[in-house]
Amino acid sequence: MLLGVKQSVRLERISPFQVTDDRGRPGCSLVGVVLSESPPVIYHTRRLSPEDIVHELLHIAHPNWSEQAVVQETERLGRSVRLPPPKIFRY
Ligand SMILES: [Zn+2]
Repeated sequence: MLLGVKQSVRLERISPFQVTDDRGRPGCSLVGVVLSESPPVIYHTRRLSPEDIVHELLHIAHPNWSEQAVVQETERLGRSVRLPPPKIFRY
């Protein structure tokens, strides 16, 4: 159990060509979680850093937090917690 997340989480790597900007042009970078899926899915176009994973797990653990609250807590944890190597998160 990490950061109070008790459920499983799926990681799915997607192509940047599946991600469009606000004008509909493909080729964008994305790391984001979809909480409405079961289990929640973290979609990512690039290799996830430990900070990315903590950030997205906080969204899952605290769905009512604002983006700013998640960013602040990610920074706080980054200063105080030694994270396990990210390779254990790669499926
Ligand atoms: Zn976020």
